[in-house]
Amino acid sequence: MSQCRICNQTTHQVIHFGKMPIANGFLRELDEKEFLFDMSVAFCPQCFMVQLEETVKPEMMFNDNYQFVSSTSNAMAIHFEGIAQEIAGKVADKQDPFIVELGCNDGIMLKHIAAKGIHHLGIEPSSNVAAMARKNKVEVTEKFFNAATAQEIVQEHGQADVLCGSNVFCHIEDINSVFEGASILLKDDGVLFFEDPYLLDIVQKSSFDQIYDEHVYYYSGLSVQALAQRHGLQLVDMVHQDVHGGSMRYYIQKGSDKNISQNVNDGIAAEKEWQLHQTEGYEAFKTKVDQICKDLKQTLKDIKQQKNRIVAYGATSKSTTLLNYAQIGPDLIEYICDTTPNKINKYTPGTHIPIKSYDAFLADDARNTLLLAWNHKKEIFAKEKSYREKGGKFITYFPEVVVE
Ligand SMILES: [Zn+2]
Repeated sequence: MSQCRICNQTTHQVIHFGKMPIANGFLRELDEKEFLFDMSVAFCPQCFMVQLEETVKPEMMFNDNYQFVSSTSNAMAIHFEGIAQEIAGKVADKQDPFIVELGCNDGIMLKHIAAKGIHHLGIEPSSNVAAMARKNKVEVTEKFFNAATAQEIVQEHGQADVLCGSNVFCHIEDINSVFEGASILLKDDGVLFFEDPYLLDIVQKSSFDQIYDEHVYYYSGLSVQALAQRHGLQLVDMVHQDVHGGSMRYYIQKGSDKNISQNVNDGIAAEKEWQLHQTEGYEAFKTKVDQICKDLKQTLKDIKQQKNRIVAYGATSKSTTLLNYAQIGPDLIEYICDTTPNKINKYTPGTHIPIKSYDAFLADDARNTLLLAWNHKKEIFAKEKSYREKGGKFITYFPEVVVE
């Protein structure tokens, strides 16, 4: 039993995954000592926030080996340019607007704002990544954002028209301090918007692999609305995004008298239909998750029993949760292919499946491939057309196990 980080209410446990390694803890050697933590996710019946019960110290996750650089993916580069265009449109009629981004990474979004000559500030605590942003001509401060940082920024730059963050808010344990900072930093007509993997997508698809050490919170319209209200803010709009297996972009403003978009009412109504405001919804989710794990493992065993080999595609962070919870290891999966150079020739955290290069997959005649990078299914099916034409099958598993 644990307490909600937002409102201190006693939470209701949704899934207990047992001992888990950190999602990005790929091993160089099989006998390396692994850090494990007790992973479970809980729901707060008072403020509706779904959250990890135990968190891992940031230094265990974000060490020298860790470097998530956004600009490596072309699709994401286009997505972030779209965000920059939207911001530029919002502030077009403002006098000397000021834009602040939390977790600006290598400047993938803010470099477009910088190029337009708009006053901006990126907040990026990781200094090697901040240095990359500076190379992209983005102004950066290497701090964590909270009420005190917000005061400092206001003194130096004035209040902001826009405060934003992408795939950052779900990582920040003390999210109350971020919202408190937002209420200090924003102008009265300013807007905070952020996007993260969307809880309703996770529940609808049963895509529980989004749950891992780096994601403290799994936001919904319900929980963001309650969180905003605690800090004198208001959820005014929410717009669904197709990235990362389904994300939501939330728009928040100061006060309690702003116009609320129909999207908010519709979004929250859909969340209530799936019972995201009560424990029953999460019990149904857990039942489906366990069924998928059982079905997937049985499917793989059946393929093996017919003397077929199985490989996997994409050594993603999130597959750590799936492989460990469903107990799928090297006895079933021969190797996982990946294009990330610093993952190749390593082993998966906890399950110790070898990781090989993409070339190894191309040269192979294995005809059964578990698709771990399931959120890129469309692009991967297009790319691997000839594999499928030659009789190769992909195994997918959300919302149910399919061999196609
Ligand atoms: Zn709560």
